[in-house]
Amino acid sequence: MSSVAPTFQCINCSTRVPLDQAVYACPTCGHLLEVHIDPEVFRARGPEEWKALFDQRLAGQPGPDGSGVWRFREWVLPGLPVDDIVTLGEGGSALTRSPRLNEHLGIDLLTKQCGHTLSGSFKDLGMTVLISHVNRLRKLGHDIPAVACASTGDTSAALAAYGAAAGIRTLVLLPTGKVSAAQLVQPLSHGARVLAIETDFDGCMVHVQKLCGEGNVYLANSKNSLRIEGQKTVAFEICQGLRWKLPDWVVIPGGNLGNVSALARGFEQLRLAGITDRIPRIMCAQASAADPLYNSYEHDFAPLVPQQAQDTMANAIRIGNPVSFPKAIHALKASAGVVTSVTEQELAEAAREADAHGFFLCPHTAVAYGGIKQGIKSGLISKSQQVVVVSTAHGLKFTEFKNHCAADTIPSVELPEPYRPIHVEDDLAQVLNAALGE
Ligand SMILES: *Cc1c(COP(=O)(O)O)cnc(C)c1O
Ligand SMILES: [Zn+2]
Repeated sequence: MSSVAPTFQCINCSTRVPLDQAVYACPTCGHLLEVHIDPEVFRARGPEEWKALFDQRLAGQPGPDGSGVWRFREWVLPGLPVDDIVTLGEGGSALTRSPRLNEHLGIDLLTKQCGHTLSGSFKDLGMTVLISHVNRLRKLGHDIPAVACASTGDTSAALAAYGAAAGIRTLVLLPTGKVSAAQLVQPLSHGARVLAIETDFDGCMVHVQKLCGEGNVYLANSKNSLRIEGQKTVAFEICQGLRWKLPDWVVIPGGNLGNVSALARGFEQLRLAGITDRIPRIMCAQASAADPLYNSYEHDFAPLVPQQAQDTMANAIRIGNPVSFPKAIHALKASAGVVTSVTEQELAEAAREADAHGFFLCPHTAVAYGGIKQGIKSGLISKSQQVVVVSTAHGLKFTEFKNHCAADTIPSVELPEPYRPIHVEDDLAQVLNAALGE
C-alpha cells in the first residue's frame, strides 16, 4: 500500500533527505524539516474503511494494536516493519468530562489525559516513534551508539524509558535545579547518563546540538521531526474518541511548540483521509514568563523575538527561543488559531479550580485552563461550544507545584487560603471533633 517511503522535507525550500540519514535541519537552507508522507497514503482506503480498521485495534491490548500511536501505524511511519516497533502502551489515554466543572464554566469541556502514560507526559507519544526508527536503523547496521536530548524534564524521562526498553544508550542534558524531583529521578532510574548543566533549557539545547554533531549521537529533541509523527496521533485519538467528530476548539500549552504543530498536522491528515472536512480552532496557551509566540501573534505573527525565559511554575514550557516557531505559525494560520498568555496567578487559580472538580492538573495544563478561562471571559469561546484541552502531563510529576499551590507559597501569587492537614492527637474525641466540627 505505502510503496512511497516517507522522507524528511524542508518546510522552506522542499529539499528532501532520506529518512535514514541523521539530519535535523535542511542541508540546503538550514530550515526545519518535517516528515513528508505521500498524500496517497491517506487516500489508499476510504474514510469508512480507515475508521473500521482503527476501531478494531483497541487500547489495552499488548503490542502495537493496543498503542494509541501505532494503532494508526499506516499514517505514522508507513513502511516501518511492525517487528521493529518499541512500544510501552503509549496513548489510548482517557478523554474525560466533569459535568460539575462544565456547569460552572458554561461550556462542554473535555480533557485529553495525555499524562496518563508510562513516563507521565505526552512526550511518550513522540518518543516511541523516534526510538522505533533508531531501533530499525541499528538493525540495518547504522552506527548509532547513543541517543541524546536537552530537556525541561519530560522529554528526557520519555527518552530514557524508551531507550531502556529498546536497549539503546541515552544521554540527557538538563538545566540544574529547573526540573522537578520526579523528572530528575526518572531518567536516572532508566539508566540514562544525566548531565545537570548550569544553564537553562535554551543553553542545554545549544550543547546537545553540538554533541549530536560528534560521534554519531542521535538527536531526540522535537527539532527531529520524527517525534512530531507520534505526537500528531493525539489529533487522531481526539477524533476517534468523539466517534470520529471534532470539537470546536482544542487548547494546548506551548513551549518549544512542537506539540501545537503536531496537533494541526494530525487534523490536516484526517482531512486528507476524508474523515473530516473541517478542523478545530487551536488555542496555544503560553506562560507569561516565556511567551514569545504570544508576542508574535499579538503583532500579526511578526518574526520570532527570542526572550530570556523568566521563572514559572510551568517549567516544561519555560522556553524563550522555541525551535518549532515557524511550524507553530503555520499551524495557527491553518486552524484560525489564537495564542494566549497566562500569568502565574491565573495558572494557580485554574489548577485549584480544576482540582476541586476532580482533576489534578500539572502546571502546564493549568496554563491551558487559564487560556480557556480567558477565552470564555472575552467571548472568544462561546457557551455551548465544545472544547478539548490537551493535558500534557500527570500532576503527580509536579508535587513541588502542587505543594506550593496548596500552601499558597508560589512567588507573587495570592490564593484565597492555604490547604493544610489538621494535626490531631491519637485520641477519639479529638478525631471526632476535628472530623465533624466547624
Ligand atoms: C514538553 C511539554 C510541553 C510543551 O510542549 P512543546 O512541544 O515544547 O510546546 C507542555 N507540557 C508538558 C508537560 C511538556 O512536557
Ligand atoms: Zn531548505
